[in-house]
Amino acid sequence: HMNLLEVKNLHTHFHTDRGLVPALNGVSFSIKKGEVLGIVGESGCGKSVTSLSILQLLGNKGKIEKGSIQFKGQELTTFTKKQMRKVRGDEISMIFQEPLTSLNPLIRVGKQIAETILLHRENYSKNQAKEHAIKMMKMVGIPQAEEKYSQYPHQLSGGMRQRIMIAIALACNPDLLIADEPTTALDVTIQEQILGLMKKIAHETGTSIIFITHDLGVVAEMVDRVIVMYSGQVVEENDVVSFFEAPKHPYSQGLINSTPAIDQGQKLEAIRGNVPAPANKPNGCPFHPRCPMASDICKTTVPKNTYFGKQEMVNCWLYDKEAKTS
Ligand code: SF4
Ligand code: MG
Repeated sequence: HMNLLEVKNLHTHFHTDRGLVPALNGVSFSIKKGEVLGIVGESGCGKSVTSLSILQLLGNKGKIEKGSIQFKGQELTTFTKKQMRKVRGDEISMIFQEPLTSLNPLIRVGKQIAETILLHRENYSKNQAKEHAIKMMKMVGIPQAEEKYSQYPHQLSGGMRQRIMIAIALACNPDLLIADEPTTALDVTIQEQILGLMKKIAHETGTSIIFITHDLGVVAEMVDRVIVMYSGQVVEENDVVSFFEAPKHPYSQGLINSTPAIDQGQKLEAIRGNVPAPANKPNGCPFHPRCPMASDICKTTVPKNTYFGKQEMVNCWLYDKEAKTS
């Protein structure tokens, strides 16, 4: 199997008191070993639901209705809760935005890493786990690791806490790390250090990373390949260079144009309007109410995916040859 993870035609719905919310409507993508994949889009596009679906952390109301999630050749959608717990502990790790809420405030940070290590290495002694934890702390760039080992979360800065979270996430040597806006709460310099660190670790250890963010600056720095989500669908898939040089989907173009130019430091053009609520999706192309290129067919008919080579895709009528000639 070439791909570590292969998601196909994933439909995830939430069954709420106010009715059915179709959060994902046929999401497909894949990631190779050692690859860093960015998932971008405004909030409400389905980025987080995609990662929570992979991890099967959807709560009581969320359900995968259709589709397939192949991880190392195994079909995760058929896994029991117990099997999924094992996958989440051993093979897929995650890092979320707020490390203060994820770390236990009452346990010394080093011990929290050591406990994770002990869960996965039953043959380790406590001392070996401690040594390994200190090694991990050094690897994620924590100075005076021996000393910091015995500190509590509140004694560390936000950046140091996020490094502890990365150390915990990597402690079991996962095949896949899912990072959902992991640096949003940190200041820019610390963000850059953490991102650089994650990229280095991915390339050194062969860990694949799914990086979920709304920040295109982060994407430019971090990822090998990009998928753009809009209204619960993937609307573009591209390698990172082509994505910035020649974005295909009008939504991607809008995202890139609304990002402050690095050399100009100003907003060029924001995308007008808002992401539609999943329960109120417009007919046709869900982006049509905001799209400067929309034509009549866009308002009535959902566009098909058009592929360029193996891993470049756009979901837009502008690229559909049949639509153009008819
Ligand atoms: Fe715009 Fe039409 Fe393409 Fe949708 S299908 S992005 S409305 S041009
Ligand atoms: Mg989110």
